[in-house]
Amino acid sequence: MNIHEYQAKELLKSYGVPVPAGGVAFNPIQAAQVAEEVGGSRWVVKAQIHAGGRGKAGGVKLVSSIDEVKKVADAMIGTRLVTHQTGPEGSVVQRVWVEHASQIKQEFYLGFVIDRGCQRITVIASSEGGVDIEDVAAASPEKIIKEVIDPAIGLRDFQCRKVATAIGLKGKLMPQMVKLMKSIYRCMRDKDALQAEINPLAVVAGEEDQLMVLDAKFNFDDNALYRQRAVTEMRDLSEEDHKEVEASGHGLNYIALDGNIGCIVNGAGLAMATLDAITLHGGRPANFLDVGGGASPEKVTNACRIVLEDPNVTCILVNIFAGINRCDWIAKGLIQACDALKIKVPLVVRLAGTNVEEGRKILAESGLAFITAENLDAAAAKAVATVNG
Ligand code: ADP
Ligand code: MG
Repeated sequence: MNIHEYQAKELLKSYGVPVPAGGVAFNPIQAAQVAEEVGGSRWVVKAQIHAGGRGKAGGVKLVSSIDEVKKVADAMIGTRLVTHQTGPEGSVVQRVWVEHASQIKQEFYLGFVIDRGCQRITVIASSEGGVDIEDVAAASPEKIIKEVIDPAIGLRDFQCRKVATAIGLKGKLMPQMVKLMKSIYRCMRDKDALQAEINPLAVVAGEEDQLMVLDAKFNFDDNALYRQRAVTEMRDLSEEDHKEVEASGHGLNYIALDGNIGCIVNGAGLAMATLDAITLHGGRPANFLDVGGGASPEKVTNACRIVLEDPNVTCILVNIFAGINRCDWIAKGLIQACDALKIKVPLVVRLAGTNVEEGRKILAESGLAFITAENLDAAAAKAVATVNG
C-alpha cells in the first residue's frame, strides 16, 4: 500500500526527521491559508498523487506570493497529471501540499528497500539526488552505494557514517545524517514498511546548513495492515484501481492489464502461465486474477463481475487446475455468473483436477454456450481465436 508524499512527511516528522513546514489543501483557499500559516515569502505547491516524476510534469511549482499559491493550486486541483510513472491516462490531483521553499545547496538520494537476495533491508544512497535513481544506476553505477542492515542488531552508527562519507557529507551534517537514517529505519520497522525513498534528501541553507527531506515515498506491507491501523487510515482508495480494491474485498487477487482477454485462474503460478500462453498465441490478457484455493460459486461469480467491469474485455478465459478447489463448484459458479450477470462475451473454460468429470458434466448439461478445452494451450488458442474473429 502506498501513501501520499505529505503523509510520508508527516509520518517522518513524528519520528524527528526534518521536513519543511507545510500543510495539505483540497482547494485554493485552503492552500492560501496554509501558506500564510507556514509563513515566509516562498512556497512550493506540490500535487499529491501516488506517483513520482511530478517535478518534470508541472506538479511541483515554486511560488513567491499568496496570490500565486492560490492560482497554482487552482490550476492543479481537479486536473489530470501525467508523469512518466502514471501511465498515459495520468492521475487526477485531488489535493496539494503547500510547503516552505528551501534554499537547496545539494540534493542526494536515500532509499531503504528490502533486498530479496539477502532478505534484509538495504540502504541505497547516492550523491546524485533529485533525478531518477534508475538512470543513475544505468549511467554511473559507481555513484550508488549500498549498505545491508542486519535485522538482529539494526542499523549501526558506523554504517550511517559510512553512507554519509560516501555521498560526501562532512562536519555537522554527519551526525545529522546518522540521526536521520536511524529514525527512518525505526519508522520503517515500526510501521511494516517495505520501502522508504527520500529523493531528494537536501542540504538546505539557513543559519546553519541542515539536512532536510524534500520528497518522501513509502510503501507498506499489505499483509501487515491488520496490525497497522494508523497506516491503514492513510489509504487513499481513489488512487487505486477500483476493481483491484473491490477484488481484495472478496479475497481475490486482481491486477488490471491492458488487453481484452479476461482471465480467471486459480493460483498465481498458473495465472502467470495463462498470461504467457495467451501472449504466445498472439492475444493480450486484460487482467491477472487469482481466485485462490476454495473458490466457492459466489467467489467465481464475483470474479466474473470484476473482470467484466473492464469494458475492454471481449472474452473470458477460465483456467482451473483444482486441488483444494473443486471443478464442480467452479462450474456451478460459472453458471450462476452467466445467469446473474447476463454474460454476453464468449467463455472459454478449461477444467482439470478434483471433480473434473462432474464439473464438465455440469457445464455440458447447462445448455449454455461454454467453449471448453482440454488443456491450457488449447484454451488459450480458442480464447485468442474468439477475439481475433
Ligand atoms: P517528484 O520526485 O515527483 O518530481 P519532488 O518532491 O522530488 O517531486 O520535487 C521535484 C524537485 O523540486 C526536487 O528535486 C527539488 O529540487 C524541488 N523541490 C521539492 N520540494 C522543494 C522545497 N520544499 N523547496 C525547494 N525545492 C523543492
Ligand atoms: Mg522526488
